[in-house]
Amino acid sequence: MQLRNKIAIISGATRGIGRAIAIELAKAGANISFNYLKSSQNAIELEEQVKSFGVKARSFQSDIRDFESVKNWVEESREFFGTIDIVINNAGIIKDKALALMDISDWTDVINTNLTGAFNLTRAAVITLLKQKSGSIINISSVSGIRGIPRQTNYSASKAGLIGFTKSLAQECAGYNVRVNAVAPGFIETDMLSDLRQDYKEKILKFIPLGRMGRAEEVAKAVKFLASESSNYITGQTIVVDGGMAIV
Ligand code: NAP
Repeated sequence: MQLRNKIAIISGATRGIGRAIAIELAKAGANISFNYLKSSQNAIELEEQVKSFGVKARSFQSDIRDFESVKNWVEESREFFGTIDIVINNAGIIKDKALALMDISDWTDVINTNLTGAFNLTRAAVITLLKQKSGSIINISSVSGIRGIPRQTNYSASKAGLIGFTKSLAQECAGYNVRVNAVAPGFIETDMLSDLRQDYKEKILKFIPLGRMGRAEEVAKAVKFLASESSNYITGQTIVVDGGMAIV
């Protein structure tokens, strides 16, 4: 699967799944533009790592919740790289709490980052893809958006929202040869899960047929497939990367 000379723009690539996606796409020959919120040292290190594969890389500090900030990132990126071929909506957060105890800020922070953030990046970038009549947009959803997980009404709603967003946008863009798909990971070992208690982790493992948590690289490989020509006839779909969790 080759992505030579393609330009990929990825939200939230300084850690976890986004970082693994940046590395996987760079190894396949794609140039990488990515943003982050706080982790500037990680951004510098990732830029260097991506460049070591012989491709170009640029990082931008911009808040995915803020449309103007995202628009500036996309415009600077387009000027630097010339175009955009692949858009990956990855930046996301959790703020888990039972709904009965959830503050409005827990709700809005998660929706604004995970769902409105995807709108912001896609809205700023999509016209470039439509004009060039080629491109791939990939939204990182979650198993939580498919089957629901208690204490995640905010997160589940944002991730289910991304699946609807994917299906609608896929129909809008298909006539322009722009494909739109989602990847729904299960439990993946990243910072996002680092606060989970050990006993809760053990409980989760009982619900994963493959009997282990996933690795960020395993999600990145599905993203690379959807970004590449190998998936040319696939649009509007969600690939679940969860060790079987969504089927039990
Ligand atoms: P992570 O390790 O916590 O990394 C999150 C990334 O998003 C970081 O690079 C962070 O930047 C960036 N980010 C957060 N808020 C941002 C904002 N307002 N503006 C710009 N960037 C922002 O998370 P992860 O586990 O890799 O998750 C990545 C995606 O996969 C998320 O959408 C998540 O919902 C989804 N997912 C994860 C799992 C899992 O088990 N880990 C499962 C299903 C789906 P900073 O480093 O600057 O903070």
